[in-house]
Amino acid sequence: MVLLILAAVSGTGKGTVGRALLARNPDLKLSVSHTTRAPRRGEQGGVHYHFTDHDDFRARIAEGGYVEWAEYVGNLYGTARQTIEDARAAGHGLLFDIEVKGAAQIVEAYPDDAVSVFLLPPSWTELADRLRKRGTNDEADIARRLARGREELAEARWFDHLVVNDTVERAVDELESIYRSAKTRTAGRLELLEALRAESA
Ligand code: 5GP
Repeated sequence: MVLLILAAVSGTGKGTVGRALLARNPDLKLSVSHTTRAPRRGEQGGVHYHFTDHDDFRARIAEGGYVEWAEYVGNLYGTARQTIEDARAAGHGLLFDIEVKGAAQIVEAYPDDAVSVFLLPPSWTELADRLRKRGTNDEADIARRLARGREELAEARWFDHLVVNDTVERAVDELESIYRSAKTRTAGRLELLEALRAESA
């Protein structure tokens, strides 16, 4: 099973790139996270996020319900263990739209399955412009996201791949080629190999 992690500084366009990748690859599904953040206009519970409150989120942490979780600009975000178990049972891959600390935790927990990609903006100026044009964040939130983004950029060097989102089409092509090659990794195909070896014995 491929666990494709897509991290980026907020505003880079990872939502757009991720959605385009999912549209092209029906065997890859979005890992829908839990968050304490309020829904933005147009966001639906169960589709974009499972929206929840602090008490519920903390209770799930206490019972070990998250594979990873992190605080981001005042809110909590996490990946339910069940999401990964369900994907394994259903036999499809998962795309994670998560920040860098959560990304590191998924890589640590699933080293054979995880492939990490950090999506870079073409420039910092363009990133700040995109955040402002998005219009869903106020100036204080934008400033906090940019500050957090500077910290996240320092972690980007530990990712398996760096992809620049200069045009969505090109970025999605690169991401898709990463996903395709991840599907053939030996660690994920050992059952095939074992079956063939058993047959050949
Ligand atoms: P936003 O509020 O813009 O939807 O998300 C803020 C940040 O939280 C983004 O970098 C997003 O990728 C990240 N994020 C979303 N879901 C999760 C999650 O389940 N775990 C972690 N660690 N980060 C997440």
